[in-house]
Amino acid sequence: MSSRAFPSAVLVFAVFACIPPSDVAAYCRMTTETQAQVGDAPCVETGAPFFWKHPCLSYAIDERGSRWMTNEEIEEAVDLSFETWENVDCGGSPPNLVFTPSGPSTCRRPEFNNNGNVNTIAFLDPWGNPCADRNDIDYRYEPFALAVTIVWRNGSSGEMFDADIMVNDQLSSSVNAGGPYANCPDTGCPPGSAGSPGPSDLRSIVTHEIGHFIGIGHSNIEDATMYAKTEQSSVSNRTLAQDDINAVCDIYPPGSLDQFCDATPLGGLGLNCETDEFGEPVACDEPGSVPGNGGGCSGGGCSAGDAPADVPWATVLLVLIGLAAMRRRPRRRHA
Ligand SMILES: [Zn+2]
Repeated sequence: MSSRAFPSAVLVFAVFACIPPSDVAAYCRMTTETQAQVGDAPCVETGAPFFWKHPCLSYAIDERGSRWMTNEEIEEAVDLSFETWENVDCGGSPPNLVFTPSGPSTCRRPEFNNNGNVNTIAFLDPWGNPCADRNDIDYRYEPFALAVTIVWRNGSSGEMFDADIMVNDQLSSSVNAGGPYANCPDTGCPPGSAGSPGPSDLRSIVTHEIGHFIGIGHSNIEDATMYAKTEQSSVSNRTLAQDDINAVCDIYPPGSLDQFCDATPLGGLGLNCETDEFGEPVACDEPGSVPGNGGGCSGGGCSAGDAPADVPWATVLLVLIGLAAMRRRPRRRHA
């Protein structure tokens, strides 16, 4: 088999305007009928919405970290971001989600396979899918994206198998969002000197991406963490808006979840996705398959039209836009 498992999902980064019916919440759920609910399209109501069947989830931070922050700073930001979602008040009880750090990982690429998995959080410089051919259009993630989340899920049921968050670690420029990043003060990060960009708040970015990690799409509520854009230096996305809270409480309503439940990923925990048992680099084009059913993505990527029902698909969601584009066209604020 020589099939590739990296996604062929649509990359989009435009302002997302979710226009739900008036009696429906403003947030959108990701479904099997859409790659990323971004742009001017309304929420996709067809297809199976994404969900974690066993909401005891682990995550691991790539040990090579970021050029902008120490590993300790990154860990602090990421842990707090997961806690923000985990500790939501759903009418007196938290949502049915438990996140457990299991890192550090050695995994800088999105993948899901039957040899062990890790929901990795990695920083990429250059900003591109390490498993894609650099001459391939799929190689480069959207340059104005600060981060992407790649979600592997069942093509028919919407059950999620794996989620990987990639942060754009390149220095920002007129054509690239990216760093620098920091754990900003509660008042926001200060601007840079002489027109240079100040740092962006990593915690705000990761909190948004975790929304995708648990199956939430974008919202048209500008104050929501799941709004598709963010202002550089703002820390507002650290705090969930009511719309975000509605989303997580609706999808994972409080229940009898065991707080010490098993967070081992499907297929087992595999913190190293880049070398095999002999220390040799793992080829990027090895197939990814669902543990137990032998499925995989073939033909140069996973496409929505021809994948068997139980084959994992990858959905790439980005977002959180930056810098140059934002300066030219400042985001409107609510009064
Ligand atoms: Zn997003």
